[in-house]
Amino acid sequence: MPRSPGKLHTPRQRRYEDTRPNAAARGYGNEWRRVSNAFVLAYPFCLLCLCRGRVNEGARQSPSTRGRSLQVDHITPHNGDAALICDQTNLQTLCATPCHAVEKRRIENTTHDVRGSWFAYLASELIRTQSIDHLRSHAHGVPPGLLEAVADRGGVDLWE
Ligand SMILES: [Zn+2]
Repeated sequence: MPRSPGKLHTPRQRRYEDTRPNAAARGYGNEWRRVSNAFVLAYPFCLLCLCRGRVNEGARQSPSTRGRSLQVDHITPHNGDAALICDQTNLQTLCATPCHAVEKRRIENTTHDVRGSWFAYLASELIRTQSIDHLRSHAHGVPPGLLEAVADRGGVDLWE
């Protein structure tokens, strides 16, 4: 005789199971903490600030947002996609505020092509503030793929 699910779970428990995040999403907390801590140690510069000729300017002016002045941002918002969450090529360091909380969020809220629009914005800031030398001199603290993406968008050669 088939077992009735009702005998195993009350309706309240079934609802809980239905809404409970899957295993990958539940593991996100610890794994993400490990990945983001290592990332910010390897890449300790806000990319937006570097493109403006500054170093972590937002973080210095607002030293703590929930205990962190720098944040590891998902360039393309992950929306729960486990593959995107810890994909190193999708990560960048930003000042928690305003670079992440205000400027990056504004782009996320106004376009579907977040990645393309974000690099276009970085490139325009790089050129507006004439900060190519500054970016180049901090290149050791920026994921290589991101430098190239900014340079491509701005039509500049960082290594000329
Ligand atoms: Zn910044």
